[in-house]
Amino acid sequence: MAEASKINLLGLTRSGVEAYFADLGAKAFHGRNVLKWIHKHGVTDFDAMTDVPQKLRDLLREKAEIRVPRIALAQPADDGTIKWVLELIDGQHIETVYIPEENRSTICVSSQVGCALDCSFCSTAQQGFNRNLTAAEIIGQVWLATRELGRPPTNVVMMGMGEPLANFDNVVPAMELMQEDLAYMISKVRVTLSTSGIVPALRRLGEVSDVSLAVSLHAPDNALRNELVPINRKYPLEQLIPACKEYVARDRRRKITWEYVMLDGVNDSIVHAKALIRLLEGVPSKVNLIPFNPFPGTAYKTSPADRVEVFRQRLKRAGIMAMTRKTRGDDIDAACGQLVGKVNDRSRRHLKRIPVVQECRQ
Ligand code: SAH
Repeated sequence: MAEASKINLLGLTRSGVEAYFADLGAKAFHGRNVLKWIHKHGVTDFDAMTDVPQKLRDLLREKAEIRVPRIALAQPADDGTIKWVLELIDGQHIETVYIPEENRSTICVSSQVGCALDCSFCSTAQQGFNRNLTAAEIIGQVWLATRELGRPPTNVVMMGMGEPLANFDNVVPAMELMQEDLAYMISKVRVTLSTSGIVPALRRLGEVSDVSLAVSLHAPDNALRNELVPINRKYPLEQLIPACKEYVARDRRRKITWEYVMLDGVNDSIVHAKALIRLLEGVPSKVNLIPFNPFPGTAYKTSPADRVEVFRQRLKRAGIMAMTRKTRGDDIDAACGQLVGKVNDRSRRHLKRIPVVQECRQ
């Protein structure tokens, strides 16, 4: 049985572990070995850490623990995608998704239980905000996936439930562990943080991290973006775009990935494509067009595939790299938040706020 007073070593970075071992009066290299046992070998029992002196193991067992989230539900899809619903210590649920591709394997990681941002087309928003995940709960998703798959993923995207920049202090150490040589060794370009655009936190991120950046744009002007991504009212495009440019300015090879969900009759016309081209002029960009993933209670519809393609071609003609994201795991509700919604049986909460497509037309 886990005790609340014990420190969970799962969420500690290399410097965190070293500092903790110094506090215990133990050598830093023992701390680094423990880090390797946890993340490289998946060991959660101190007694199996054979190169750690017995006395130190006894001390660790008394004061610390390695607690990982529990898989409440594993749902494999026909295309190889697996969605896990994880149960946390307080009984709350989050989702982690594994997306295999030919040359890479990606884990989509959650950063919060629910989300406070209320984007009108997002099913996580319907669940409201419950709490931030701890660093251990965030890296715990990568730990679990690594054990389930038998190897670490090649890529991690912070695109699960929640807004990662609203949980900065736990997301940053977790992303450090993803890149850590003694843990998962994922290169900084293969760790992607996706944000709806909390500008001050984005600037702070640039000071401490250089992971890849994806930004949920979804609209080329403030009026429409205010409706779709309400945080835009606080941090409008004239603040967001320069902050993103600055984030990638350190490396000429870097680009911002703009996520743009294609909503039928809302943001998917040629007029929107042209406005987007103007907005992104001079910004090193890749645009990811995401077919809207419908969920119960939403009034939005997915744009027809031919309209998405016309939109994409228009961007390409303007010299903007644009791809359409393949929908994966359709048969298992892989759009974020959907499965948890079912597990929690909170379907009635969808009634709380049903977006009206007409309202979103500007
Ligand atoms: N809060 C972060 C990460 C969460 S979601 C962010 O906003 O970026 C990852 C991406 O999925 C975001 O671009 C989000 O806008 C998009 N998304 C959310 N709901 C969706 C849906 N129903 N269909 C398609 N994309 C969706």
